[in-house]
Parts: sequence; C-alpha cells; structure tokens
Amino acid sequence: MPPADPASADPGPSVASLDTIVSLSKRRGFVFPSSEIYGGINAVWDYGPLGVELKNNVKRAWWRAMVQERDDIVGLDAGILMAPQVWVTSGHVASFSDPLVECETCHRRYRLDELPGAENLSQTELQDPTIVARLGLKCPADAGPLSAPRRFNLMFKTYMGPLEEDAALVYLRPETAQGIYVNFRNVQATSRKKIPFGIAQVGKAFRNEISPGNFVFRMREFEQMEMQYFVRPDAAAGFFEEWLERRRSWYHRYGVTPERLRTREHAPDELAHYARKAVDLEYRFPFGWKELEGIHNRADYDLGRHQEASGQSLEYYDTASDEHFIPWIVETSAGGDRAAFTFLIDAYREEEVRGEKRVVLGFHPDLAPYKVAVLPLLKKRPEIVELCGRIMFDLRRDIMAVYDDTASIGKLYRRQDEIGTPWCVTVDVESLEDGAVTVRDRDTMAQERVPVEGVKRFILDRMEAARA
Ligand code: ATP
Repeated sequence: MPPADPASADPGPSVASLDTIVSLSKRRGFVFPSSEIYGGINAVWDYGPLGVELKNNVKRAWWRAMVQERDDIVGLDAGILMAPQVWVTSGHVASFSDPLVECETCHRRYRLDELPGAENLSQTELQDPTIVARLGLKCPADAGPLSAPRRFNLMFKTYMGPLEEDAALVYLRPETAQGIYVNFRNVQATSRKKIPFGIAQVGKAFRNEISPGNFVFRMREFEQMEMQYFVRPDAAAGFFEEWLERRRSWYHRYGVTPERLRTREHAPDELAHYARKAVDLEYRFPFGWKELEGIHNRADYDLGRHQEASGQSLEYYDTASDEHFIPWIVETSAGGDRAAFTFLIDAYREEEVRGEKRVVLGFHPDLAPYKVAVLPLLKKRPEIVELCGRIMFDLRRDIMAVYDDTASIGKLYRRQDEIGTPWCVTVDVESLEDGAVTVRDRDTMAQERVPVEGVKRFILDRMEAARA
C-alpha cells in the first residue's frame, strides 16, 4: 500500500471503542439492527427517529454544497433497477468482485484483505493462488485451513416480471454512478449545461459484501452521494485536484477534526485499468484509517464504453473550439451512511462537569437532529406549559425543534447534550412575568435571557453564523 499523506501522524480516534457509539445509537434512537424482533439480518441497519434526521441533514448538506450553491452542477434521481446491459458494459458483471477465501472445516467465508496479516497486500498478491499458503493464513475462528482466493461478485440479483428465468435477470445497482452516465445526454440537452459541468445523485446502492461490519461502516444496503464532473480531457488533472480539496474542506466545514482526515493515493496496481488517478479521503475510525470517500479521474472510460455498447453517440460538441469529443470524468464518490457515521463519531466527547460525566455530541447545527429543545422548568404550571407550546408552534414552522418535560431540568439538559441539540430554551416562572426565556448553549453551557418573541430569530442567527 502506498504511504498516506505524510503530514498525518496518528491522532487516535475520537472515541476508543466503537461499542460506545453503537450503544448510544441504540439507546437514543439513532440506529437499530434491521428486523431485530426476528434476530436481525446481517449488515442491514435501520435509522431511528434521530438517525433519520442526522442522515437527512448530511444528505442535505451535501446537496447544498454540490448542487444548490453551484451554477455548474445539476441533480438526478435515477432508478435502482437498470437495464442489465448497463452492468455488462460497465464491467461490473465481469469484475465487480472481492477476493474470497473459505475455511475448509467450518466453511466461514472471509474477504482476504481483511484477514489479520493480509491487510496490506497489493492487488496482484490478492489474486495470487499461492498467497494463503505462502503467508500461512488460517481461519480466525477455528484455525482451519483456508482455500486459495477466488473472485466473488458483489452484485445482488433479482428477477423482473413474473418469470424467474435468466432472461429476466436484473441487478440491484451496486453504485449510483451508472444512472448518471446513461442519462448524460438527457441531462446535458435539457439543462443546456456546457462543460465543465456535473451531475449529482444521492441514492441507495447494494453490495453483497463478503465481510460487512463495523456497524454502519460496511453494509449490504447503503446510500451513496456521487457526483460526476464532465470536463475537457486536458482539464481533468486540474479539476481532480480542485475536487479533492473541495471535498476535504466539506468535511472540515461540517466539523470533522482535520487531523482525523487524510488522503491516500491508490497504487498503480490498485487503480482500475482506465483510471488516471484515484485518491481516498480516509478518516481515523476507532478501527483504523478507512476510506470515507473516493475521488477518481476516470478518463473517457464510462461514456466511451456506453457509447460503444449502446451505439448512441455520447460525444459532446464544444462550440468554443468546434470539437467533438467524449468528455472525461472526475468523480467524487461518498457514502451517505459512512459520512453520517463519521460525523457522529467525530462529534462524540466526554467531559467532566462539577464532578459528573457529561456526554456531548458536538454536531454542527446544520447536522444536529434537533436544533433546539423547549423545556419547562415546572411542568405542573399550566401557564409555563402553555408558553412552551406557543414557542414550539413558532419554532417548528422553520426549525426542527422538540419539546420535553419528562425529567428534571438537569437531566433534560444532559439528554439534549447527548443527542447533540445545540440550544435549549427553558421557560421558568420568571418568564411569565418578564416575557423572556433562558437559552442555553450546548458547547459553552452559557445561558442567556432572550425575549420570547426573539427566540426564533436568535436560533436562526446562530445557525447562520455556524454556516459562515
Ligand atoms: P471499500 O474499499 O471500502 O469496499 P470501495 O472502494 O469499494 O470501498 P467505492 O466503490 O469507491 O468504495 O464507493 C464509494 C463510497 O461508497 C465509499 O467511499 C463509501 O463511503 C461508500 N460505500 C461503499 N461500500 C459501502 C458499504 N458496503 N457500506 C457503506 N458504505 C459504502
């Protein structure tokens, strides 16, 4: 494996054990195992009330940066099911596979490059039939002998229509990018964009991963956030570097600790044969440095292959230079779940306040599931509860807000800290007299009196400031 960004000494993870995040996620309603009452289904996870807010906010922040704030990128939402020929042309049917080894005694299956002692093998070594014997690798579960590696295709198959026969075979897409390539002409013609321009898409993808795990890091059903940027061939290298920096700064902008983000360039034998350059943005998870997003210079491979296989021209006519050519593609390929997971882990911190442990998710306000919680100091006073109701009514028209009166104020604050709510609004007896409430800041715990009619503006202003 090539050396990563040398500037990056290991900063350590934000939380030592992944279990801390898994149990907080379950306890507070971020993520649950799928079909849990039936014992679960491996590598599929469901997002609970707070998780769905977090993930939607992450996707919204991505869309905002990639589409809303730009003149040169437009959106798309293509189908999960596509003509099977797409996957033949793209090369997925022939080679979208991982190296699988199987224990000859217990028949457990492993992805070779995830076995202890094989993590840093090159692509060439991963395909070497003698590699298992040469390294003396054994089954981690029962130390049984392992088979030589074979390629295992990761695409899920299903049948379209009433007959389960080969002619009706279709695939669940393993990436969203192909929906963009096959729509290139439609989008370009209708949006009248001139290169350089991009198409962005967020949606589900499915991979029958050999060894999923580490919670929502590697799942069999997940979401991708991909953008394909179409450029002149001679401009691709420059745009590659621009997009790499832009994507890195997006994670910084939403709060990921810069030291826990690094880049790793793919080695020549790791690169797809058509790819000119590929760099992974890696994050320091509790289980090591792992890919968070990939930035790829894909040359003219994708549109070139689809043009050849479909017989339809996917060339672009450049009026400025009076040239016809197949655009090159710079791709940014991120995971919605992996990004949400990263923001969740990186936001986690434990502090000691007056001798007690305080757990805080320090989310950027745009990502926090709730922006504000409205809390009554005394829920037995109907006037206080009624004033909370009026504040909630006003807030929720513009802001995701929550009301909670199920514990004492100290506990309510701790609960909101633990789910990352940036502001708490407390209504007390004095509020009934002076028409003001206390707004508490999650990070500083500072409290400020704010007139009731100014609460929404106060929160909106702070959200705006956090975005600047
Ligand atoms: P890996 O080497 O981890 O298998 P990959 O290189 O195959 O990943 P890509 O095909 O580049 O990943 O996918 C782009 C992005 O989609 C990844 O950076 C990741 O954020 C996300 N992703 C890919 N596979 C999964 C998965 N099984 N579960 C969750 N997210 C995934």
